Amino acid sequence: MSRIRARGNERTELAFARMLRAARLTGWRRHLTILLKGLRPGTAIASDGTRFLPKVRPDFVFPSAQLAVFVDGCFWHGCPRCYRSPKTQSAFWRTKVARNRERDIFQTRALRQRGWRVLRVRECALSVRRSPATLRRISKALGATATSA
Ligand SMILES: [Zn+2]
Repeated sequence: MSRIRARGNERTELAFARMLRAARLTGWRRHLTILLKGLRPGTAIASDGTRFLPKVRPDFVFPSAQLAVFVDGCFWHGCPRCYRSPKTQSAFWRTKVARNRERDIFQTRALRQRGWRVLRVRECALSVRRSPATLRRISKALGATATSA
């Protein structure tokens, strides 16, 4: 299962990287680890008791803009547009996807509290039809930093 997940992520991230290159957006790095220092006790624990790691590895980081981008697969992250519960083991998947979403929220919040700008891009936002709007979101986030610097 971990292999399926890794492959799915990779496909999504490669599609995003292609989109950035086509738009000539530079200054990004993949898989930079950001340590979440000074987490308050209790803030990093999911509702099922799972402890979130005090570090985050966004899919893409624009270090100079302090922008972190997560490219979320629609299944794993429970996209409200696309997610359909599998017919078998649906309780298992519901729990798993719910925990992923909790972790997404935790990581987004923890990064924002530390001064990061965070964008979460869903897999379905990489379609030909929707990618122009997605690129505008990225450019806007990058531009916002440039003007405030
Ligand atoms: Zn979706």
